[in-house]
Formats: sequence, structure tokens, C-alpha cells
Amino acid sequence: MSPHIIAIANQKGGVGKTTTAINLATALAVARYRVLLIDLDPQGNASTGLGIDYANRRAGSYALMAENRSVDELACTTLVPLLSLVPSDNELAGAEIELVDMEKREYRLAEVLSPPDAPLAYDFILIDCPPSLGLLTLNALVAAHSVLVPLQCEFFALEGVSQLIRTVERVRRAFNSKLHVQGLVLTMFDRRNNLSELVAADARGFFGEQVFETVIPRNIRISEAQSYGKPAHLYDAKSSGALAYDRLAHELLTRTNTPAPGHAS
Ligand code: ADP
Ligand code: MG
Repeated sequence: MSPHIIAIANQKGGVGKTTTAINLATALAVARYRVLLIDLDPQGNASTGLGIDYANRRAGSYALMAENRSVDELACTTLVPLLSLVPSDNELAGAEIELVDMEKREYRLAEVLSPPDAPLAYDFILIDCPPSLGLLTLNALVAAHSVLVPLQCEFFALEGVSQLIRTVERVRRAFNSKLHVQGLVLTMFDRRNNLSELVAADARGFFGEQVFETVIPRNIRISEAQSYGKPAHLYDAKSSGALAYDRLAHELLTRTNTPAPGHAS
């Protein structure tokens, strides 16, 4: 079976893309699926959050897109069994500009993630996108089957989401007919704050079933874990953050009708 490829995108920064990428990838791996996370943000927060700090970075997602290097060659193991990472590399910051002149510039990532002869040996590939709708995010959308959109439970949460959804439509028509919105995930929900409830109600009113039932609470353990280079599961497996990402993973598995993990495929 070929991997299910999910881009985690929202052109706003600080909404929980990277946190969702790290912890959803971990939750899927803990559920015994083979997972690859690709850090496509030049800031490299997903790499740092999984313990690969800036100084130790080797070739990563830039090499993958610009130098036609293979996933097998570039993926590193992480502290989480079954979770591999293609980190962000130092050259990625220039990629938005350099890719413009490259052949098939929109398909660079798609071609390495879906090799024609043998599918990559993963069940899920998650792509952590940068906070923009530039060429890096476009590459992720062209490579993906679906897009997961984190929404921070804050003022202006829905601002920009319709632009993102129009972009998804455009990519579907022009480059990738299989692309669809996997769903919207409410993040950093704070029960003590009425605004969180309002944003959640607004999002559900507007996007209906596309909003995941699972809500990710604001939980200090999540951000602490990242500062130690660990997913929440390895820092405090019983924290409300780790448990919420487990529920999100199970909801995703149900929504996508994913069969139980079997590594024989
Ligand atoms: P993005 O990738 O969209 O820019 P991040 O995932 O990096 O957003 O999140 C922005 C900041 O908020 C980070 O410092 C992160 O640790 C923190 N954060 C994200 N989700 C949560 C959460 N559920 N609880 C507490 N802090 C969170
Ligand atoms: Mg990020």
C-alpha cells in the first residue's frame, strides 16, 4: 500500500502546525503505523522539536527537493520507534527563490514521495509546512492526498482559512486532482477562556463536519516537551496534550478508513 500523504498547512504562523505535525506523527507511530515527518519549514522547529538541533543538521528536505536525493538516504530515525524525520536543512531558506527556476518546480516533492516503481515503506507521511502559501507549501500540496489545517482558538482564527481553501481548490484543478481538505483541528483550546468556545462554535458553524471532534487543549507540557526536543508522549505520556493527540490520531484513522497496522505490505 502506498503511504497516505498529509500536508499540515495554514499560512498563519503560531497556530500549531509544527506541534500537530510532531505529536500527531508520534501518536500514529505509537499506534504502530510507520510514519515519516518531513520538515518543510526553514525555521526547522519540527526538527528541533524531535531532537535534531540546528548545529547537527545535515542534508534534509532541501536536498530532497532540489538535489533529487532519496527519502531513504535522507530520513533519520528519532527517539520514537517507527517515526522517521527528513529534517529541514540550512539551505531550505533559499529554496522559495531557487525553486522558481527549476524544472517541474511544483512537482519536486511529489516526485520523490511517490516514486513510480516502488512506493515508500511508510503508512503515513506528514509534511510540516512553513507559514506562507509560497512554493514550499505548494510543493507540499501537490505531493499530498489531503491537507490538515490547525486553527488556533484565538481572535482571527478563521481569517485566511478561506484563502487557504481557495488555494487547495486551485492546486486540485491545476496540479493534483486527488487533493482534498482532511479537516480542521482546533488547537490551544482553553476551557477557562470564553473566546475559545466562541472560536470553536464559529469554526463548526462555518465548516461543519470538516472540523475534527477532537480539540487540542492548551497544555504547558506540549511546549515544555518541544524545548527538550521531545514529543509530548515521551515527555509526559499522560498529559492532556499527549492524550488529545492520541484521540486526534484515532479520529484520523477512522475518518480515512485506515486498516489496522500491518508491516508486511
Ligand atoms: P506553527 O507551526 O503553526 O507556527 P507551533 O506549533 O510552532 O505553530 O506553535 C506555536 C507555539 O505555541 C509554540 O511555542 C508551541 O510550543 C505552542 N503550542 C502549540 N500548541 C500548543 C498547545 N496545545 N498547548 C500549549 N502550547 C502550544
Ligand atoms: Mg511551524
